[in-house]
Amino acid sequence: MPTPRRGLLLASIHDVSPRFESEVDQLLALVEPHVGQRLAMLVVPNHWGDAPIIPGSAFASRLRGWADSGVEMFLHGYFHRDDTCHGRSASRLQASLMTAGEGEFLGLTRNDAAHRIGEGRALVEDVIGRPLDGFVAPAWLYGSGALEALSEAAVPIAEDHLRVWSPRTRQQLARGPVITWASRTRLRLASSLAAAAALRNAPIKVLRVGVHPPDVRHPAIVRSIGNTLGVATSTRRPAAYADLLAAQLRISGRT
Ligand SMILES: [Zn+2]
Repeated sequence: MPTPRRGLLLASIHDVSPRFESEVDQLLALVEPHVGQRLAMLVVPNHWGDAPIIPGSAFASRLRGWADSGVEMFLHGYFHRDDTCHGRSASRLQASLMTAGEGEFLGLTRNDAAHRIGEGRALVEDVIGRPLDGFVAPAWLYGSGALEALSEAAVPIAEDHLRVWSPRTRQQLARGPVITWASRTRLRLASSLAAAAALRNAPIKVLRVGVHPPDVRHPAIVRSIGNTLGVATSTRRPAAYADLLAAQLRISGRT
């Protein structure tokens, strides 16, 4: 038996939508050599309101095929875009500064969040033929309404920039930053490359790596993703988010 690798690696592809089908294929080609099917896809039911996932479509059957092959499926907002009115609040400033208006679940009321989670979950579960594995808010931004709606909907797993938790059990499952890349400005691109290079060698027990469709347009990001996954899998076992829940159950069963 080989020496067990010390930590876990959770890899995810964000913004899985018919709009980004070719980018998703390129990201898969980049990620699969390192983790196989041990990855999560974050699915957007109707990106910006004009890229719907239609049950019975070719894209829907691809989603089902990925789910059948073991890819975990997370709901990732509904439209992805922040179309709520935050007024002149701090959250509006946060949304516009951090996300270029992609923080869909930051300003939603509990009812609106519950409605979108319910509709999105029904659609994705219909398409993949199995229960959803979890939910990740666009840009990892959750307002209080979204957090309440996730708990009420008993969603098994959610994550933000710094932690993974279970809305269903309200337990924290993992801590530590996500390695991700940004390309909207040259400065952000450079700092995300530097952050990835530092974090992939840091002693983070559960290391998360999230890739996005625009990443494939930048050769430096593509190289950094490959290097990061290579280093990460030399010391960590590619795992499923659901493994964190199973570990939590084992721990709470013992105590
Ligand atoms: Zn996203």
